Amino acid sequence: MTMPAEGPAAGPGDATATGRAAAASLADAVTVPASAELFARARRVTPGGVNSPVRAFRSVGGTPRFMVSGSGPRLTDADGRSYVDLVGSWGPMILGHAHPDVLAAVHAAASAGLSFGTPSPGEVALAEEIVARVPAVEQVRLVSSGTEATMSAIRLARGFTGRPLIVKFAGCYHGHVDSLLAAAGSGVATFGLPDSAGVTAATTAEVLVLPYNDLDAVRAAFAAAPGRIAAVITEAVAANMGVVPPAPGFNAGLAEVAHADGALLVSDEVMTGFRLGPAGMYGIDAAREGWSPDLFTFGKVIGGGLPVGAFGGRADVMALLAPDGPVYQAGTLSGNPVATAAGLATLRGLDDAAYARLDATSTAVRILADDALTAAGVPHRVQRVSNLFSIFFCDEPVQDYDAARRQDTAGYAAFFHAMLDAGVYLPPSAFEAWFVSTAHDDKAVDVIAKALPGAARAAARAVEATAGTHRR
Ligand SMILES: *Cc1c(COP(=O)(O)O)cnc(C)c1O
Repeated sequence: MTMPAEGPAAGPGDATATGRAAAASLADAVTVPASAELFARARRVTPGGVNSPVRAFRSVGGTPRFMVSGSGPRLTDADGRSYVDLVGSWGPMILGHAHPDVLAAVHAAASAGLSFGTPSPGEVALAEEIVARVPAVEQVRLVSSGTEATMSAIRLARGFTGRPLIVKFAGCYHGHVDSLLAAAGSGVATFGLPDSAGVTAATTAEVLVLPYNDLDAVRAAFAAAPGRIAAVITEAVAANMGVVPPAPGFNAGLAEVAHADGALLVSDEVMTGFRLGPAGMYGIDAAREGWSPDLFTFGKVIGGGLPVGAFGGRADVMALLAPDGPVYQAGTLSGNPVATAAGLATLRGLDDAAYARLDATSTAVRILADDALTAAGVPHRVQRVSNLFSIFFCDEPVQDYDAARRQDTAGYAAFFHAMLDAGVYLPPSAFEAWFVSTAHDDKAVDVIAKALPGAARAAARAVEATAGTHRR
């Protein structure tokens, strides 16, 4: 029942983490007093002390670091400690923190006024950039978050098809849209049960949750409800349960099965869009293989660190949106001039050389981590698509959410804290991807290389200690 904000529910290991949190918070009062003090203040006025759950460190224990500045590949916390950042604000900071070109664009836009509530040139330019990069996106509508993008996309799909049902996959995160907070149903096709209090069963009853990478389950769902499924929504690469690549032909198969029944395929590229390559995952599979999703959702990179999301796709589908059509969708700050300036400057910085750099850096970090964990004897799997990767603390390939949840989260927590102590900021959850930026240089990679062997040994000790309790 812990659906996260930045990603999916923490798996087993939460109880261990709670105990560890108590011990760690004592130590943190000495080592990071400013963060500990801020966290205490935050908890008085904000639930859990955070504005998005994964930030609270619940699944790794300890005190969240309150960051006060970022520059290139580094973050600095309230205690003056510096970290090489492998989270990148969960994806947007693909050019690194405080990139000069992005800052210049933001300063220029801000000086001209923060928001007009009218159309403005920047939003046209950002839409043109997205459409130019992803030919299957004929039209795009800008919103302010990935959640808004997926919420609007499924409304549009239902409006276009006149059908009620949505298919989603267990372990895929599409933001905190009520109807998409259903991850239930392991192994078999089940109608989704709410994964969050406050979401009604009636809402998720119109969402069918299937195992990821299981095309037969999708075929069976369509066979059982012909003409009733509006859309299949999938992460272009599942990356909110750790990185789980689509099996060869899976995404194409989704398009084929959906189209055969007159349903739409919504490819959620909020994380992968413009990160995996110039045209995101679309450029890697669909464009090369000659098929296409009908709708796309974007976020993260297209805002460059400010709140921007987008959904777009086939012009005949997008034509149903207000004011042209009957599907309502709106936003006070949609297309905000400062946010679109940050997004456009970020996309313009992402040329072929930038993607080559992301590839080289992610490969280097991946190999270093793999080698360190192997040397320490920690069972693990490195999984990736392009420059996006994560490491599962388990000894089997991970193809779906059930497998992802069988990993050793206590091992990850120990690994995380040892890396943090050595100045590397990893995602505070075993279920998140690691993000590199174009600003990660040799010095940053060196810090990571030096931190890894000790962290891998810490992980080995934790895995040893919990062996038996996590095997199931
Ligand atoms: C982050 C994410 C979202 C939600 O975006 P927010 O901006 O956090 O609302 C949706 N889908 C995917 C695949 C994501 O990674």
